[in-house]
Amino acid sequence: MGKAADWLREERRNVLGHWTAFCLECGAARRWFVESEDEVPETCACGGTILRRCPSCSAPFSSTFAVECEECGSRLREPELLGMRIRRQQR
Ligand SMILES: [Zn+2]
Ligand SMILES: [Zn+2]
Repeated sequence: MGKAADWLREERRNVLGHWTAFCLECGAARRWFVESEDEVPETCACGGTILRRCPSCSAPFSSTFAVECEECGSRLREPELLGMRIRRQQR
């Protein structure tokens, strides 16, 4: 059962892209694959910086809503700001 769930999660990741990048300004996110990392823009359409890897340890992120690095725990962005932006986006 656990194995099947793992497989499903892995399968979904393969479809959506292995990792995620997000804009520090507006929170816009996009998925990327290791093979196509070069295609991830450095700058968002809004002019904000798109963060693709942790600035401290260079680990990529698997969660679009990550506020801390999963590897080293570094703060990636302000959670308060993120909450505000996300609520606004969902409207
Ligand atoms: Zn943006
Ligand atoms: Zn890190």
